Amino acid sequence: MSRTPATARLMDGSGLARRLVDETAARAADLTRRTGTQPCLATVLVGEDPASVTYVKMKRARCEKAGIRSRHLELPATTTTAELVAVLADLSGDPDVHGILLQHPVGPGIDERAAFEAIAPEKDVDGVTFSSFATMGFGLPGFVSCTPGGIMRLLDAYDVDPAGKRAVVVGRSAILGKPAGLMLLARNATVTYCHSYTADLSAAVREADILVAAVGRPRFIKGEDIKPGAVVIDAGYNPGNVGDVDFDTAATRASLITPVPGGVGPMTIAVLLSQTVDAAERQLA
Ligand code: NAP
Repeated sequence: MSRTPATARLMDGSGLARRLVDETAARAADLTRRTGTQPCLATVLVGEDPASVTYVKMKRARCEKAGIRSRHLELPATTTTAELVAVLADLSGDPDVHGILLQHPVGPGIDERAAFEAIAPEKDVDGVTFSSFATMGFGLPGFVSCTPGGIMRLLDAYDVDPAGKRAVVVGRSAILGKPAGLMLLARNATVTYCHSYTADLSAAVREADILVAAVGRPRFIKGEDIKPGAVVIDAGYNPGNVGDVDFDTAATRASLITPVPGGVGPMTIAVLLSQTVDAAERQLA
């Protein structure tokens, strides 16, 4: 049986992320020249979860390449909530630190929300505090969750205006689905959230002019459910470099689609770096 060829244009997240990092590095260099202070991101890692160790290492390496200083704190897995809150409160009050990233999940036994709330809103460059959620929800200036922030930048880069569009977000995690929907709503999309309790998910997906897949299940969204001409954003990243959308079938119906890898993924760290320089610019002004 012959397969319908792909018609969708690819949304090049790798290229866009590279441009954002270059622009961020130029802003970091300019700020350092003008103020004599290099932007600084503090990274806090609790325990030794291998994936978390790798992510933090990657983030620090990217900081260095972009001219952002990183201060790294490693805490043992036995750290208590009170101890972690004290460390984050110290960093929040330290004028030499402009952004704070608490690598999460922080592991069992720690009240993650209490830890996040110890991050000063003006240093919340990962967009995890209630304060950042509120500004995202109201569409006010502030720091956004990095992956959804990357998704919005991708939409903008490809001239996709969410206003008046039906946006369907599959997934409602605090770091991805929920803030992605908030940001689309703030840009005047009509937003539907789907999650594990959603009845007839296919019917909801078929309505989407903009689909954001943030489920964590390989090829979960099938091409036959994609509305012809839809914009498909696949934030999923599953073992084997597989997204949450069945790319081959979805690409025959979508107008624009993000590849996995090379779509949403590279945007996340790029937004983190950009927001760190934003924070430093505001604090050093
Ligand atoms: P998560 O916390 O596990 O959330 C998954 C969401 O999907 C939940 O809201 C869950 O619903 C929903 N869900 C699960 N099974 C479902 C089903 N059968 N039908 C409908 N909804 C279902 O995952 P996450 O952290 O948001 O990550 C999602 C994906 O994005 C993963 O592949 C992850 O690797 C990727 N990701 C990528 C980046 C990046 O930088 N590119 C960053 C973060 C995450 P309930 O709320 O009802 O449980």
